[in-house]
Amino acid sequence: MTSPAQHIKVLYTGGTIGMQASANGLAPASGFEARMRAQLDAQPELQVPHWTFLELLPLIDSANMSPAYWQLLREAIVHAVLVDKCDAVLVLHGTDTLAYSAAALSFQLLGLPAPVLFTGAMLPAGAADSDAWENLNGALLALGAGQPAGVQLYFHGELLPPSRCAKIRSFGRHPFRALQRNGGGTAVGALPSQLDYRQPKAQAKVGVLPLVPGFDVRLLQAVLDSGIQALILECFGSGTGPSDNSLFIEALRNARNRGIIVVAITQCHEGGVELDVYEAGARLRDVGVLSGGGMTREAALGKLHGLLGVGLSFDEVRRLVELDLCGELLG
Ligand code: ASP
Repeated sequence: MTSPAQHIKVLYTGGTIGMQASANGLAPASGFEARMRAQLDAQPELQVPHWTFLELLPLIDSANMSPAYWQLLREAIVHAVLVDKCDAVLVLHGTDTLAYSAAALSFQLLGLPAPVLFTGAMLPAGAADSDAWENLNGALLALGAGQPAGVQLYFHGELLPPSRCAKIRSFGRHPFRALQRNGGGTAVGALPSQLDYRQPKAQAKVGVLPLVPGFDVRLLQAVLDSGIQALILECFGSGTGPSDNSLFIEALRNARNRGIIVVAITQCHEGGVELDVYEAGARLRDVGVLSGGGMTREAALGKLHGLLGVGLSFDEVRRLVELDLCGELLG
């Protein structure tokens, strides 16, 4: 169901879109609402829906994004919809971690009855060839045309699913792409009530570790000993790791015995994890590693934060990791 937005809340978190030059380079800057209004007033032919604006504090370069800020953002979005009665939300965000935030918020806003678009810019508003107003106005118009409930990315005229997206380019046009990942999971069916967008969320501790040839198991041990509740293990190909190394396998077995959830995702840009294809993958499964299927790093991180932040049991989190909640495991 899509209906044209009547009242959009614009949430400004910082990012290049509103940055201004400082002595040390581009830095987040306040005052974006007035600049946005002025450029829209100068183009009366653009029929964008009514909007109100909120600057989230602190304004950040999204390189400083954190799970704590995701909570702030989630609360602001829920407040905009439930209290301010906005029927759509537009989040202005730095591009560096935009795909992470959009994915994380997809899992934290399950059931939200309104569309949420994330956008930003590669070049600041006002700079030569800036894409700031193109993205901002395009996103407002897309919401005005009507969007389905839930989170999407809007960038350079494209609407993209956050549970499949990554920033694949650090310059120029179309920096975000929906990766050609496999599915790997079936739909969840009934959503546990704890995952509803109105439920409070706590912060979780999730680690991410890539495997490389010559991987030193002490690194894995150190990450597992750092107090994390879950680890995303970035494996090779369809989900393999150095399983001939008994220390590696033992560390993973111990992780499961200590209640740490380990999820394998692939380092490949396309495809996904299928742990039973190779013996080197099946051994991971045997010691409790879960398959992240075709999940991107962004989706897996957001999903684990979403699941662990609502106090589900270890077994329930493990069950839900391999089921599709919002498109992250559908082919
Ligand atoms: N470093 C900036 C940020 O992520 C880049 C951008 O906005 O495009 O905030």
